[in-house]
Amino acid sequence: MNNEKLDIISNILLKRNLNVLMKIEKERLGFKKNDLVFIGMANLAELHVCKMQSYLESKDMEIQFFNSYLSDRLKYSILIKDIDLNEEISDLDLLKICNDLSLEEIEEFVFKENKLIGKVVESPLKDSKLKIAKNLEPTAQGSIYEMIYGEKYPKIRWNFKIDKIVLVGVADGLRGDIIYEFKRYGNSYLMNASKKRAETQGDIYGYFFKRSKKRMHYFLKETEEQIIDEKKIDEQNVLRTINTFYEILEGKTEGPEYKWFCNNCKFNQDCKFSSKKSNY
Ligand code: SF4
Repeated sequence: MNNEKLDIISNILLKRNLNVLMKIEKERLGFKKNDLVFIGMANLAELHVCKMQSYLESKDMEIQFFNSYLSDRLKYSILIKDIDLNEEISDLDLLKICNDLSLEEIEEFVFKENKLIGKVVESPLKDSKLKIAKNLEPTAQGSIYEMIYGEKYPKIRWNFKIDKIVLVGVADGLRGDIIYEFKRYGNSYLMNASKKRAETQGDIYGYFFKRSKKRMHYFLKETEEQIIDEKKIDEQNVLRTINTFYEILEGKTEGPEYKWFCNNCKFNQDCKFSSKKSNY
């Protein structure tokens, strides 16, 4: 029944021009239509590795995050408020749906539907999944590792409008006062080089999903070692990170501390800071 109700969202969105909808929504929210607004929380945390990458990824993925923003608003409005959607609805009316839905209502709904409690469930076909993962890009690879080794908790993807942007994110799990985040790295050197980014991601989820602690779960591929690290959410780190991102939007970009980060970066042929180019 719910799936049938939700099918209408894809039907409606498939027939609309997402770029047009995004521009209308930016203006409706008080931004300029060409501002960079819909930002992924993971891309925000990325600035602790490379500011330029955080900016370029955000630009590249804005339409995807807008799609998530709009789909989630429509989905929870249908599931929680039982609103009726029809395909004739105007763009503006479509965008206005869900203006009164709170995170608390969404959490109550998700927790009622989802009884996952953090167990690691033995994944069928583990070896073949790991084989497939080898040929995938890093994010897809990470999802497979998380599916196999991660603890299972309810997840919520949601969006948060702040003064200059709208942040969209999904933590790997929510439990009581804790957010759970799974990360996999090749080895401990790579983990330490990216730890600030990972912890900031945990802080951002904790701050916006109103949790006081983060449970970071690191998986090291080389040794299959698993490290669990629970810490308080660092709110000041979140606010500093957002301010740094605002400076990036004003043009204060720079390359990474470790030049080897450029090796696997998808922007390394065009980026002006790329260490793969001879003039850097
Ligand atoms: S190529 Fe290097 S400097 Fe440019 S975005 Fe990628 S990691 Fe950053």
